[in-house]
Amino acid sequence: MSKLYFSYAAMNAGKSTVLLQASWNYQERGMRTLLFTSALYAKADDGCITSRIGISAPAKLYSETDDLHAWIVREHRKKKVDCVFVDEAQFLTKSQVWQLARIADRLDIPVLCYGLRTDFRGELFPGSAELLAIADNLREIRTICHCGRKATMVVRRTADGRAITSGDQISIEKSMYLSLCRVHWEEETGRWAESAPAKTKASRTRKKPATKKKPAAASKKAPLRIAAARMKRPPRTRR
Ligand SMILES: [Zn+2]
Repeated sequence: MSKLYFSYAAMNAGKSTVLLQASWNYQERGMRTLLFTSALYAKADDGCITSRIGISAPAKLYSETDDLHAWIVREHRKKKVDCVFVDEAQFLTKSQVWQLARIADRLDIPVLCYGLRTDFRGELFPGSAELLAIADNLREIRTICHCGRKATMVVRRTADGRAITSGDQISIEKSMYLSLCRVHWEEETGRWAESAPAKTKASRTRKKPATKKKPAAASKKAPLRIAAARMKRPPRTRR
């Protein structure tokens, strides 16, 4: 029995690059891969998976009404399929994730899905939720926030750079998104400022004697960033 894999990440972590490289590894050994990507982002009728570092490969476009199991079975009958790759897997429906699971289980073809874990509101995409629930193998593809921490969240911005906190889960314009760590995501979306100023103040006064050195070196600019730095290494500052 083959496996259903889900590689998830925030935006711009290089998911498509990893997918294309993995598919290439199969093809190099004379094996046939089937590539799918969501029709939602497609610029033309012919699908294509494009990586930001400049590599690309043709792909089949799936939309939510497609039966992926039937589609892959058809292809497999024409010519043996060795591995299936699905990009933008966050847009799969719940039943399509199950269709892919059956490909792994009953046709014994590995299925590798790549997608975003959460949307700009911090909520799971339906396809990702189902994949996290039933995939055999979960892998995180990492990218970093501007502060250097792992970026796990995505903000969506208006043209003038403000963060959008509500609205449709799907937007076609990829460039409006930015990946951030959870700390900066909360700040950018206004959640931290609303919910926790009192707590910040309290912890700052309490910790003053132990952390005198650090704020002096890094201070001025962003008090919230200092708070974030403190949170990163509680053992030292707490004594
Ligand atoms: Zn950050």
